This record gives sequence, C-alpha cells and structure tokens, in this order.
Amino acid sequence: MEVVKCPYCSEYHDFDPQDLIEDQLLQAECFNCEKSFTYTVTISRYIEASKAECLNGGEHNFNEMKSMYGNKKTTICSNCGLVKKKAGFIVN
Ligand SMILES: [Zn+2]
Ligand SMILES: [Zn+2]
Repeated sequence: MEVVKCPYCSEYHDFDPQDLIEDQLLQAECFNCEKSFTYTVTISRYIEASKAECLNGGEHNFNEMKSMYGNKKTTICSNCGLVKKKAGFIVN
C-alpha cells in the first residue's frame, strides 16, 4: 500500500500499488475535502550507494548551491545533504 498526502487538507490516501502507473499524471479526489488533485508515481529502480565520510566522523563537504527559489544561496553538504544554517537565516 502506498500513501499519498492530499495537497489541500493533508489527509492521507491509500493507493493500491497495482493501480499505479509510473511517470503518468493521475487524478484522484480527496474523500475528506472533496477536492481533486493530481499525482505522479516515480518508481526508483536503482539504488546507488555513495560514501559519506561525514556520517562516519569525517568533515562535511559543503558546497554553495543556488536555490531554485529567488537568489538565496544555500550551503549543502554534497555527501549527506545537510543544509548549513547561517546565523540569522531561517530555513523553512
Ligand atoms: Zn483533501
Ligand atoms: Zn555531510
């Protein structure tokens, strides 16, 4: 059983994996707020493992990345995905 959260009211919906079609925009109606929403299913076929020395007592490998939203720059560890929080900077 897969679980999808309604984007309107955050109610959880159960989906039978047999009904799921990969990479196709599907529609559903929320039983709680009765709004329609769409969803896509992405099934990862491969799992790629990478070394993360920072999770084993090593240093984080921080890189400055340009945020998708606006011009804010985010510093993210490329090994473990940790976001470096700057003083006075609120991370949502
Ligand atoms: Zn809903
Ligand atoms: Zn790290």
